[in-house]
Amino acid sequence: MSFSTWQKGKGKLGHLDLEGALTARDRVGIQDFVLLDAHNSETAFLDNLKKRFSEDLIYTYIGTLLISVNPYKELDIYNKKHMDLYMGVNFYELPPHIYALADNAYHTMLTEGNNHFILISGESGAGKTEASKKILQYYAVSCPSSALLDTVRDRMLMSNPVLEAFGNAKTLKNDNSSRFGKYMDIQFDRQGDAVGGHILSYLLEKSRVVHQNHGERNFHIFYQLVEGGEEDLLRQLGLERDTQHYNYLVGGECANVSSINDKNDWKTVKNALSVIHFDESDIEHLFGVIASVLHLGNVHFDGDTKGYAVLNSNAELRWVSKVLMLSNSDLGFQVMCPFMVDHAVYVRDALAKAIYGRTFTWLVNRINESLENQDSTRKTVIGLLDIYGFEVFYVNSFEQFCINYCNEKLQQLFIQLTLKAEQEEYEAEGIEWEPVQFFNNKIICDLVEEKYRGIISVLDEECLRPGDATDLTFLEKLEEKMGNHPHFVTHKLADKKTRKTLDRGDFRLLHYAGEVTYCVVGFIDKNNDLLYRHIKEVSGLKLRDYAEVATQFKNSLLELTEILMAKEAWYVRCLKSNDNKQSGKFDDVLVRHQVKYLGLIEHLRVRRAGFAYRRRYEEFLKRYKPLCPDTWPHWRGVAADGVETLVKHLGYQPDEYKMGRTKIFIRYARTLFATEDAFEIC
Ligand code: ATP
Ligand code: MG
Repeated sequence: MSFSTWQKGKGKLGHLDLEGALTARDRVGIQDFVLLDAHNSETAFLDNLKKRFSEDLIYTYIGTLLISVNPYKELDIYNKKHMDLYMGVNFYELPPHIYALADNAYHTMLTEGNNHFILISGESGAGKTEASKKILQYYAVSCPSSALLDTVRDRMLMSNPVLEAFGNAKTLKNDNSSRFGKYMDIQFDRQGDAVGGHILSYLLEKSRVVHQNHGERNFHIFYQLVEGGEEDLLRQLGLERDTQHYNYLVGGECANVSSINDKNDWKTVKNALSVIHFDESDIEHLFGVIASVLHLGNVHFDGDTKGYAVLNSNAELRWVSKVLMLSNSDLGFQVMCPFMVDHAVYVRDALAKAIYGRTFTWLVNRINESLENQDSTRKTVIGLLDIYGFEVFYVNSFEQFCINYCNEKLQQLFIQLTLKAEQEEYEAEGIEWEPVQFFNNKIICDLVEEKYRGIISVLDEECLRPGDATDLTFLEKLEEKMGNHPHFVTHKLADKKTRKTLDRGDFRLLHYAGEVTYCVVGFIDKNNDLLYRHIKEVSGLKLRDYAEVATQFKNSLLELTEILMAKEAWYVRCLKSNDNKQSGKFDDVLVRHQVKYLGLIEHLRVRRAGFAYRRRYEEFLKRYKPLCPDTWPHWRGVAADGVETLVKHLGYQPDEYKMGRTKIFIRYARTLFATEDAFEIC
């Protein structure tokens, strides 16, 4: 049989051959960076990404890691046809795709019976949430099905629009920015059916409820309710159909966003809630709470002659009580203490944030109940991690500090796991190798989280110090303790270290992804989360079990790290193509920066440390057997021996490859290239 007949016979494989052919390679670039010549530079790396991007090929591999470049336009590659195409197909047989990664994780889980997770990372707006939704959709459509399981599946899918409505918002970076971290386990039974799920959520950005920076919005759900809510519902909740009427919705001066249709999204969310099995009373409760926050924001205080707050909004307060089903006196206690006006506003806002934060937690719990799998037989899971991306604004506060710290932790995990996984693979296969030097961001993680010495510890100390602790005394303590740290700069130290000036109330961290200047105003307050204390004090609870916000967050990230370390990792690294959300625009400087800080070139080097390529004997033989008369059409022995015969026939020199226990390791990309080219000509 001629090669071309054989090629037709192998169906899906044909795709790669097309893309791999030399002329095509010039046009669309290389689909796996491992095949790029080892001496090629960062520039060649970027050229390849750009070439592919211009052909709408947004995905490229580094081995099994998937790079995704945000196209900012709908591509026709996420349909059922594509899902079918990628089902059960090996990584290298089709052009790179998020479905290929999802499918490989799934099949590895099934064959090896172990747990996996997919770490999706990248800065704000790079495409993490979209990627995680595509993976979930792929599992929902392509896993085996039964009527009962369909329910679980629908609920899992529908948890997305609900959590996005309550936990996402328009920021300057992204019109649908995740303002909470999300880790979702998808549970599969032995047959590979998706049978249940569980969501862990991380630190919601509650401050957004009461304050939005210019050009940003509150959480989507507020606008959806006001714009899309049915007349009856709005009447019941005492709401006007006018976002401009609500103080909590006008701060950012951008209630209308062209890419967002709040009315339609309202319908989607309502429908999703009913699929997840929220009954009428749940829904009434939920929107009562949302309305209460809007009313609370309109509660107004005047000052009396001594400056004490006088409540001037009985109508709003009555609505708050009504929609929360409280008696007026419950709430009066909170807002009618003799506070100065500023303090009264502060307490009002703290209450609004607490109400919203608790509702979000309740929502996640309710979704988890509906996704819970009652069957106690053994399950394996694929975890999807989609967390708020690294972000730098003109003014950065406590929230950015937590978000960027979280990204720092994920980068650390990536470094540990990729190095570890690589070492283990060489060890398991009995191959010697030379370790590669990385920039290890552990030094920055330690700076933030180290016990007694890290920034979080210093912040906690200040929060708990009786007396006159302020944001500025916190900053002074930082200067005292971290002054010499290479990744920390303040006003006093700025000239010496970076020659860039800093304001008095700022400190700067040199994160793995770049410099960020944080303004300390509000750090103490936000870390204290004061209302929580008030409530505990009022209810007579001791403060013993109380942890400050940043410490709680740190602990939850440590737990998450443990959850992830016990699983096999897959990586999606999302890159932002430009800062203007513009379709088809590839900003070289921006992409180069991300490629650098995400450590993609180092990752590639590690993949190549010693050996650029590895493939299981069976797969290698299956693909290249037409190249040798002894292996074609069938090799009737052990696959490893067939591979040895094949590569000897091809003239591989002894230093070009090593035979591991289950895989062949090829040192140079050019060797595999030559084999690929021979294969194409054959
Ligand atoms: P954040 O950290 O702020 O939550 P993110 O990384 O989750 O950011 P997404 O919300 O996933 O970013 O993506 C931002 C926007 O980019 C999307 O709303 C969508 O318009 C566009 N986008 C992302 N990925 C894709 C894709 N694969 N195809 C088309 N558009 C995309
Ligand atoms: Mg997101």
